[in-house]
Amino acid sequence: MEQNTLLQIAKDFGSPVYVYDAEKIESQYKRLTSAFDKVKQVKLNYAVKALSNISILKLFNTLGSGLDTVSIQEVQLGLKAGFKAEDIIFTPNGVSLEEIENASKLGVQINIDNLSILEQFGTKHPKTPVCIRINPHVMAGGNTNISVGHIDSKFGISIHQIPHLLRIVENTNMTINGIHMHTGSDILDIDVFLYASEILFKTAKNFKNLEFIDFGSGFKVPYKEGDIETNIEELGEKLSTRFNAFCEAYGKPLTLAFEPGKFLVSEAGYFLTKVNVVKQTTSTVFAQVDSGFNHLIRPMLYGSQHDIVNISNPEGRERFYSVVGYICETDTFANNRRINEISEDDILAFKNAGAYCYSMASNYNSRYRPAEVLWYDHKAHLIRKRETFDDILNNQIEITL
Ligand SMILES: *Cc1c(COP(=O)(O)O)cnc(C)c1O
Repeated sequence: MEQNTLLQIAKDFGSPVYVYDAEKIESQYKRLTSAFDKVKQVKLNYAVKALSNISILKLFNTLGSGLDTVSIQEVQLGLKAGFKAEDIIFTPNGVSLEEIENASKLGVQINIDNLSILEQFGTKHPKTPVCIRINPHVMAGGNTNISVGHIDSKFGISIHQIPHLLRIVENTNMTINGIHMHTGSDILDIDVFLYASEILFKTAKNFKNLEFIDFGSGFKVPYKEGDIETNIEELGEKLSTRFNAFCEAYGKPLTLAFEPGKFLVSEAGYFLTKVNVVKQTTSTVFAQVDSGFNHLIRPMLYGSQHDIVNISNPEGRERFYSVVGYICETDTFANNRRINEISEDDILAFKNAGAYCYSMASNYNSRYRPAEVLWYDHKAHLIRKRETFDDILNNQIEITL
C-alpha cells in the first residue's frame, strides 16, 4: 500500500490502527490456487485464527475460499459471515466431545486429532463422516514452538498409532472421509513438506472412502530482508504431480485441501502507531509508541521481526532505534533497528501485521484494542471500532463492599 494512504488512514481513524489491503489478500489467494491448477479439485480453507474479523471472512467468501476453524466460536463466525457449513472444517485440538458434537450439528466437516474422542464420536455418531488429523512426526523448521509435527507434539494422531486407529474405525463402523496434517507454521523446506506428504499418502491408502486430503499449512512469508519464502510455485508443481498420481492409484479423484492463514493475510496487514516519546538513554535511543505487546505480541512471544517504517519521514536520515511500547513491562518491538529519523508524533508502520496480530491482542494495562480498517476498492472501510471505556468494564461486576 502507498505510504500516503496509510498516513491518511492514521489521520482519519486515529492510532493505533490495523490496516489490511484486500488486493494483497486476493493476490495471495490467487497465487496459491494457480500454483495448484493442475489438480482438478483444490480447496483453500482460510485459517480463521490468523485474522478473524467478519469482514475479512466475507472477503474470503467472495474469493471462493472455505474456512479452517479451531473453535466453535470461529465456526459460528464463519456461518455468520455467510459461509455454507460444508465449506467449513473444524480442526480443534484438545476440545471436549460436546464441542465437537455441537459443531457437527451445525453441519461442518469434523476433524479429530486423538483416538479417545474418535472412539467416542464414532460410537455415538457412526454415520457422520470424519476427517482425521495425522502427526507424521516431521520437523518443519527448527523452532520447537512452531514445529508441531515432532514426536513430543500434542497435535494429531501419531502415525505409529494407525493400527489402533483402524481398529476403532472398524469397531465403530464410522466413515473416514478425509485425512489431514498440519506440521506447523514456517515450513522452510519444500522437501520436508513433500516428505511429510508421502507419509500422508501412505496412511491414506488404509481408508477406502476418502474425499479429500488436507495438507494443512505452514507456508512461510518473508518478514525481514533476506528471509526466505516458501516457493509456492515449485511446491505446486511437485505436489500436484504427486497428488494426481496418488488419485490415479487410489482410483478416484480426491480434493486437495490447504488451510493457510499467514500466507494469505500476513503481508496484507500494516499496524500504524504514533510515537509518543523519543527517549535518549546512555546506550540507545528509544522510540516509544502508543501501543505495546497488548496489541502486537509476536515480537515478544516468538521473537518475530516486523519491519518498521517511519512513514512520516520516509526520506529522513537513517538512525538506530529501539522501538518499544507503553506497557509497564518490557515490550520491545525492535532492537537497534535502522529507521528514518524519528520525531515525536511520527507514524510508524509495522509490516506483516495481518496474521496473528489483532487476533492475539488483549486489554492488558486496561488499554483499548485498536481499530481495524480494510482498504478495499480504493477506499478505507472501518471494520472494527476502537474500543472505549465501556468495553473495559463490560462483563465486570461491581459488588458492594
Ligand atoms: C493455525 C493453523 C493453520 C494456519 O497456519 P499458518 O501458519 O497461519 O498458515 C492451519 N491449520 C491449522 C490446523 C492451524 O491450527
